[in-house]
Amino acid sequence: MIVLPRVTEYLDALDPGDREMLEEIRNEALRDRIPIIRRETARFLRTMLTLLRPKEILEVGAAVGYSAFLMADASGEDSRITTIESFAPRIAKARRNLERVGMNGRITLLEGDAGRILPELLPERYDFIFMDAAKGQYLGWLPYLLSCLKPGGVLLSDNVLQEGSIAESRYAIGRRDRTIHERMREYLYRLTHTEELETSVLTVGDGLAMTVKKEKS
Ligand code: SAH
Ligand code: MG
Repeated sequence: MIVLPRVTEYLDALDPGDREMLEEIRNEALRDRIPIIRRETARFLRTMLTLLRPKEILEVGAAVGYSAFLMADASGEDSRITTIESFAPRIAKARRNLERVGMNGRITLLEGDAGRILPELLPERYDFIFMDAAKGQYLGWLPYLLSCLKPGGVLLSDNVLQEGSIAESRYAIGRRDRTIHERMREYLYRLTHTEELETSVLTVGDGLAMTVKKEKS
């Protein structure tokens, strides 16, 4: 837990929710224990996309499509979303959900391992990237994420604080989670200490890192 549960409860109660179809997809996903973004995270994402109006959006980790639909909804009608998912049952569910929401073909689902797909994406293609997949891989994928992000574009990474455990010393972390802990710390260090990047780590939901790839000067 990163912020007081009472504060999170209050903020969730304050949230007006999504349109009906999105809310339905959200509830089904929660019922099926799919780790979709939290309400606070959804609200932040909506606000950001309303502000930035990105045209080309990339998501890593589609699950059943909830956050992709939310991004399509919030970013304006001429945006396009490309989202990657590798887990077959979720791909099938995401495709069914895509049919339900329509979205006029604005969402493209790429099937397969992001580790294979990311290096194949066009350089400087995307205005906005939402990183929400296997936490142990963020660090290894960072060069590809930065390469396909346009200068001036934004990389938003979810689950970077890992329920707050990221702040613990590695010795306080169970052996099984140490590699992920170490890699996520290195990821945050790079995002905050690379000259071409400007990053703010936010205690929203499970921790969000918001990174701007600076324009070349
Ligand atoms: N963004 C979604 C939730 C994503 S959950 C939402 O909020 O609605 C994380 C997803 O990343 C899982 O469905 C998992 O199968 C997928 N994933 C994990 N590792 C991956 C990889 N290497 N390649 C593609 N997808 C991956
Ligand atoms: Mg997440």
